[in-house]
Amino acid sequence: MRTICLIPGDGVGQEVIPAAAQVLQTVLPGVQFVEAAAGWACFERHGAALPEATVAAVAAADGTLFGATQSPIGNLTPQPPSLTGKGEPNSPPLAGEGLGERSYRSPILALRKQFDLYANLRPVTRLLPDGRPVDLLIVRENTEGLYSGRERREGDTAIAERVITRRASERIARKAFEQARLRHANRSSEIRNPKSEIRNPKLTIIHKANVLKVTDGLFRESCLAVAADYPDVQVGEMLVDAAAMWLVKDPGRFDVIVTTNLFGDILSDLAAGLVGGLGVAPSANVGAGRVAVFEPVHGSAPDIAGRGIANPVGAILSAAMLLDHLGEGHAAPRVRGAVAATLAAGITTPDLGGTATTAQVTDAICQRLT
Ligand code: ATP
Repeated sequence: MRTICLIPGDGVGQEVIPAAAQVLQTVLPGVQFVEAAAGWACFERHGAALPEATVAAVAAADGTLFGATQSPIGNLTPQPPSLTGKGEPNSPPLAGEGLGERSYRSPILALRKQFDLYANLRPVTRLLPDGRPVDLLIVRENTEGLYSGRERREGDTAIAERVITRRASERIARKAFEQARLRHANRSSEIRNPKSEIRNPKLTIIHKANVLKVTDGLFRESCLAVAADYPDVQVGEMLVDAAAMWLVKDPGRFDVIVTTNLFGDILSDLAAGLVGGLGVAPSANVGAGRVAVFEPVHGSAPDIAGRGIANPVGAILSAAMLLDHLGEGHAAPRVRGAVAATLAAGITTPDLGGTATTAQVTDAICQRLT
């Protein structure tokens, strides 16, 4: 029997993770759920944003669905009035009056670190019926770059260190090449007419090596070195600013993108905007091992939390990625098909222009799966 760990977290995480669990229950009736706590409310209640019991539940599960958590922004105030989604990059430790020695660190960052989930996979696919077709995957390095956590103030000068290593660059490149092969294999098996054209696998390395000569020079060099092991994958490269323009102008020219942490963070939100916005964007955090954490790209959306109108599609498509990870090859495309059919029927939450609630969208998706 499969065990899935559910970490709803804060804000709309509490609404979209139960929705994704309902879909998983529909396609995998034997699945068992274990719920675990993390986030700001958990920190306030227990003094830990990511309790040890939660880490143990993630380690024991076949996969984890993570909602979103709120993190304090900016300077260290004991009672943060301003809260934001997943708190990326590294939320500063929160310590000081009223909180004693306790410190807050983003739970998703802590999980990525704990289980060395070095790759962030962000597929961007158009499921809405209108608009240009978009079908690409951004593979974002998850552990270093400008999000290395090495920031400091020296008087009126602030410095962030951009750390790039050959080891991390090579392993993310390898993951991206493997994903390019996998997507190609899936495309080939889905197309029944042998005469139809199947896109060859293609990987675009995105960097800024013309300016960041040392750091992105090493990233580029490492990715190109790995390319030699994947002669079947067409390799291209592009500067990040040009990539932002081409993603908007002609997203069809991309298949798989591999890039560093900050560039991947920004480009994947931009790409999500091409297909309906944050509410429909899924992601996966994967490493070399069995542990993997799946999460909608959006944050805890405090502005709409508790109103029952959060779009559950990002979380449900993250659950579909979890099904792929579990080897439930048939279930994942069924879920994506049910989501596409529901959106095509105009059953959408307000962020997509509709009037449906989270529950109505989820029920409509589940009805198409039974
Ligand atoms: P992060 O710090 O993680 O990047 P964020 O700044 O992207 O967080 P979000 O919480 O993702 O913040 O919210 C950004 C905007 O998108 C808000 O207006 C929010 O209401 C909207 N939004 C986020 N998630 C959803 C969702 N599931 N359904 C509808 N709207 C959403």
